[in-house]
Amino acid sequence: MNSKPILFNMTAAELEQFVAGLGQPKFRAKQISEWLARGAPDFSVMKNLPESLREKLNESARTMPAAIDKMLESADGQTTKFLLALADGQKIETVLMRTSYGNSVCVSSQAGCAMGCKFCASTLLGLHRNLTMNEMIAQVLVASSHLLKGDSPAPQNKRLASSVEFPPLTRGITHIVVMGTGEPLQNTENLRGFLEYANARLGISWRRMTVSTCGIVPGIRELTEWGRPINLAISLHAPNDALRSALMPINNKYPIAEVLDAAFANSEKTGRQLMIEYILLGSHNDTLQNYGPEQAVELAALLRGKNVMVNLIPMNAVAERDFAAPSGNATHRFQDILINAGVHTRIRRERGADIGSACGQLRIK
Ligand code: SAH
Repeated sequence: MNSKPILFNMTAAELEQFVAGLGQPKFRAKQISEWLARGAPDFSVMKNLPESLREKLNESARTMPAAIDKMLESADGQTTKFLLALADGQKIETVLMRTSYGNSVCVSSQAGCAMGCKFCASTLLGLHRNLTMNEMIAQVLVASSHLLKGDSPAPQNKRLASSVEFPPLTRGITHIVVMGTGEPLQNTENLRGFLEYANARLGISWRRMTVSTCGIVPGIRELTEWGRPINLAISLHAPNDALRSALMPINNKYPIAEVLDAAFANSEKTGRQLMIEYILLGSHNDTLQNYGPEQAVELAALLRGKNVMVNLIPMNAVAERDFAAPSGNATHRFQDILINAGVHTRIRRERGADIGSACGQLRIK
């Protein structure tokens, strides 16, 4: 617990008032807010403030609504997992992925998750609360300042790292995926505020933002009405209601046909290709009883002729969950069936599994 006021959460007027309370002129508020917009983790980086003021601020306030508690780097140096502490003591996880097409942040939308999917670690302790818009923004800012400070092995960013002491307003983050812990479409108002901020203030294009949902139909419709050309990803994971309900309790409320209807309508409105996420679960003897050729054929029938990309996600092993990863052969066979049926399909490259930050592995230990 930390009850100091969080300056990033203040309006310009509130910040001016706060600064005045410390006996400081108005223009200090503007200087501070510029640092905050860069995600300043503490006051020591605010070099254009007198040291005495920085000390005063340090005693009386915090900068951001999320502070780095722990940081893990994957062995290949491409993935960083942050454990962030929020003001109320909740911990959340954020993942930075350096890829050939840019730098992507995987953002959590809730502390915990209520959805109860059988293969996922994030839901094991249930839902604690929705994250605020600022807590989602802070995740991107933390990742971007880490990236640009050059205190991590980031080959693509060497040039930036050498010339920047603290990140400028143009950031190294190019993509946002809301695929961390939580169900974003249970928190749509804060989600939309966050994405609006990322677009307007961080200069991230709508087309480089992806929201992933287990299929909350009213939330999908809300995004469709909102109309921004962001990418929608549906965690489908099964081609029929019996199997999907067994894996994902939410399917009892919103069955496959309704979810896909809403999702196709969204993609028609935004013009963006719909992403279908599909976990492949290996059975114990690896014959994939439930994830064999018949399921691929059934899935193809649901998606044929639509503007979709299927992302096959080989199950990431999670200690608390029973499912195993599929064999490489089974994965490729599944992909071949879809492709031969005319459905775009790729296999998701696994990132950060060694630091527990691959899909479905996020959880607070
Ligand atoms: N609640 C949202 C976003 C969070 S999950 C959603 O359901 O889409 C991000 C993705 O990781 C989802 O597709 C989820 O189903 C998948 N996932 C969960 N556990 C996994 C695991 N153990 N292995 C691989 N992917 C997993």
